[in-house]
Amino acid sequence: MSFPVDPHTHTIACSHAYSTLGEYIAEAKRKGIRLFANTDHGPRMPDAPHPWHFINLRVIPRIVDGVGILRGIEANIRDMDGTLDLPGDVPGGLDLVLAAFHEPVFAPRSSEEHTRALINTMKRGQADIIAHPGNPNFPIDIEAVIQAAVEYDVAIEINNSSFSVSRKGSKPYCRAIAEAARDLGATLVMGSDAHFAASLGDFSEAFELIQEVGFPQERLLNTSPRIFLDFLERRGHPRIPEFINL
Ligand SMILES: [Zn+2]
Ligand SMILES: [Zn+2]
Repeated sequence: MSFPVDPHTHTIACSHAYSTLGEYIAEAKRKGIRLFANTDHGPRMPDAPHPWHFINLRVIPRIVDGVGILRGIEANIRDMDGTLDLPGDVPGGLDLVLAAFHEPVFAPRSSEEHTRALINTMKRGQADIIAHPGNPNFPIDIEAVIQAAVEYDVAIEINNSSFSVSRKGSKPYCRAIAEAARDLGATLVMGSDAHFAASLGDFSEAFELIQEVGFPQERLLNTSPRIFLDFLERRGHPRIPEFINL
């Protein structure tokens, strides 16, 4: 099964990713991806682009070759208050903010502290999606985090790369997260976390897990561009007129 929305990709703006935005667009067209987000790492990561990368995202057309492009970021959770490393004044704002723990910015602590930092991140209201919360280096109180995700209407990512190239040992945590999301009424989204264009829209293992736990597809944001965009609008992002017929 293929899905038309991918909210999580990295380009050569980070040197540990290997494809250009143009290559992602070509790949999207080939695979029938109709909307994807460019979400390079926030400025606190050692390999992050300069803040101007985010400030100038507006030069990218909304739609290229029929593919919608969201201007996003994978921001770093910096501290226990859930402060994010968002670049200053991005004209018109960013379309999408993912937030995540990354070891170089937030050294792993106790499960209690990870839980508190994640809940505070959601409470601050800037993060639309919590990326790869199943990282075994950052154990959390899954029920408390999922409850907060419901309360603050933040989506929880099931990250496909966590089952292949990154964050070894994530699967049991991701499974427990998907089960709690199913039971508590949270919204899930699958992210490829592609660092190379060929991985765009690859949700094979994430979707397998979602099916195994019987997560209801009406609370999965990848099923249509409109469902994903409605979620962003519900979170207070302005409607993007160019995407109305996407
Ligand atoms: Zn990440
Ligand atoms: Zn990422």
